[in-house]
Amino acid sequence: MPELPEVQTVVSDLNKKIVGDTITDFWSDWPKTIKDANSGKPASSADKFKKEIKSRKILKVRRIGKNIFIDLAGNPHYLERGKKTIYIHLKMTGHLLVKTAKTKNNYFNERVNQYIHHIWKLKTKNKKLKTLEFSDLRKFGKIVLVDTDKLEELKEIKELGIDVMDNKFTFQKFDEILEKKSAYGRSAYGGKKIRDILMNQHIIAGIGNIYLSEILFDAGIMPTSLTWKLSFQVRKKLYNSIRKILEKAIKLRGTSDSDYRDTSGAPGKFQKVLKVYQHEGQKCLKCDTIIKRVKMGQRSVFYCSKCQK
Ligand SMILES: [Zn+2]
Repeated sequence: MPELPEVQTVVSDLNKKIVGDTITDFWSDWPKTIKDANSGKPASSADKFKKEIKSRKILKVRRIGKNIFIDLAGNPHYLERGKKTIYIHLKMTGHLLVKTAKTKNNYFNERVNQYIHHIWKLKTKNKKLKTLEFSDLRKFGKIVLVDTDKLEELKEIKELGIDVMDNKFTFQKFDEILEKKSAYGRSAYGGKKIRDILMNQHIIAGIGNIYLSEILFDAGIMPTSLTWKLSFQVRKKLYNSIRKILEKAIKLRGTSDSDYRDTSGAPGKFQKVLKVYQHEGQKCLKCDTIIKRVKMGQRSVFYCSKCQK
């Protein structure tokens, strides 16, 4: 599943490629992906979605956690003129591709980029045509049209913890989170495993299982360590590993261990530098101990029992 570095790569690409363009049309062969903002159920009509986004100009693309927002200007031809935002979640296998008439790109011919279920037709200022296409093999992706000023009232956005790449996510903030006291004055998370705190999107938004494994290996911490047992120095090391691994992953344009591709259909490069994720049964690059895997819920965490304490 795309995690924060992959979503950040898509958002940066889209800001370079589609801002200033106007939506001229929309096509979908799987309208169930288009959800109603309030109920979260499939929207009553894809035609309404199309009508509401048509003729609007793309102002900006941004993200909160793993949620992508395409902000649109008011519509001069439509009764409801307020600003709207197209909210997209890529889920398991979704990725967004931008194609122009001039695009000659072999990546688009690859199988992984062929599951196009939604197409936004765009026109540039110079009247050149372009498409934004949503490839989604498993069809778990989500598209929602929201009033821009009501976006942060959406339940799934409101409930998100602090974004791990936000400037406000300082070491002090991280330490406060780990030290958080419950209503009874006890430590709220002290008895919890550190992997569960880092993966809980309501506490800290943006870390998924790929980067969780890499971060904990980098910091030398066992995924099952209890939060209260981590010393100040270890917490500091963990914070630095979070920033270091995610920044490196963004620089390498994410991890393509399965379906994730960037907006030109190309894979990321971080899978080439993974140290423990999906390395089960292989030797640790640092100490030759065999890498192990532990299941947490539906997901796996990979670790070295010698390098991580
Ligand atoms: Zn090791």
